[in-house]
Amino acid sequence: MSLIYLDNNATTKVDPQVLAAMMPYLQDEYANPSSIYDFAKRSNQAVKEARGVLKDFFNAENEKEIIFTSCGSESANMAVRGVLNMNKNKRHIITTKVEHPCVLNLYQALEKEGYKVDYIGVNSNGELDLEELYEKINSDTAIVSVMYANNETGVIFPIEKIAEIIKSKNKETKFFVDAVQVSGKLPINVQAIGADLVGISGHKFHAPKGIGALYVNSKTLIKPLIIGGHQERGKRAGTENVPYIVGMAKAAELAVDHLKYEATEVKRLRDKLESNILKNVYNARLNAGVINRVPNTTNIGFEYIEGELILLHLSDLGICASSGSACTSGSLEPSHVLRAMNVPFTAIHGSIRFSLSKFTTEKEIDYVCEKMPGIIEKLTNLSPFQDELEALRKLRS
Ligand code: PLP
Repeated sequence: MSLIYLDNNATTKVDPQVLAAMMPYLQDEYANPSSIYDFAKRSNQAVKEARGVLKDFFNAENEKEIIFTSCGSESANMAVRGVLNMNKNKRHIITTKVEHPCVLNLYQALEKEGYKVDYIGVNSNGELDLEELYEKINSDTAIVSVMYANNETGVIFPIEKIAEIIKSKNKETKFFVDAVQVSGKLPINVQAIGADLVGISGHKFHAPKGIGALYVNSKTLIKPLIIGGHQERGKRAGTENVPYIVGMAKAAELAVDHLKYEATEVKRLRDKLESNILKNVYNARLNAGVINRVPNTTNIGFEYIEGELILLHLSDLGICASSGSACTSGSLEPSHVLRAMNVPFTAIHGSIRFSLSKFTTEKEIDYVCEKMPGIIEKLTNLSPFQDELEALRKLRS
């Protein structure tokens, strides 16, 4: 079996149709969209059309609400710093304990700059404590930042409800949603969810790395992070990355067409993988509630064994999975997300995330289902915790 890529929450394969859409703008149509000669009109028009596609992707009211960025991290930084720099007198921020490191590290930097940041916790199913959120919002709260779905567990947060809570407590508080892990998996409807700012990243839905977008509703004013030319209506300077913008727009169109397939076929394959492992491996446990998850993700803890060893054995068979977010795997620190969920220490080090895509096949999933029990049995036999494993085996058999 050749490569089996089950790490689509880290990044995705570029869809061949996306590449085909980009090619003209990487070769012949290289004009700067701001130039005034006729040759530039086609690249200018391509950016305009792409903005229209992204407007529909977000269900925004207006094209002017879309800003092209370079990635999800930039979208988050632009949203949060953009709002804070516009409201210098407000010094309080709320986020969650389980955000992606690109957001958490930003908040740690802001704490050093004198901001007060509250981190809302989650329960063992990964669900956010909404009462705690309500309690923390006050008249000084400039922004609340909550991810739409968690990259490690796939758990979806009730974004509409959160928006309601925020606005019921303080109408002036802005709401930023990191929607990086839902794009291509669930529809995004910014008007229905009532968010002020929403960020996405192209490489999570089959566009290349290096392109993202931020929706900023027309009532929300932000200060730019990158100051220079007039591009993006003065919100983000720098010559537009025309081929990548065109590529992300194509990926957005394809993603919308594939939402039903994600919700049915991708989910079916994810469920098949998950239930097979949970059935055939006695020391496996699911790290999340089963409802309210994106369709492509499962996070399974293998008790009393090391996740890194599982990943290496999988890698020897050409199977790519992950032990946390790509930005933190490689460090031996247990995942901050699983710690916040109080996953028992016996399982936290042996937790593996599998994330599928529209390119995942049944044959691939069958192969992983076939190989997993043997890998886990081999590593379990080498574990120094034999008494505990025996007790667990008896309990679960
Ligand atoms: N937010 C979430 C939830 C993510 O999963 C990621 C990437 O894994 C990011 C933000 C950062 O996106 P990017 O890699 O495009 O900066």
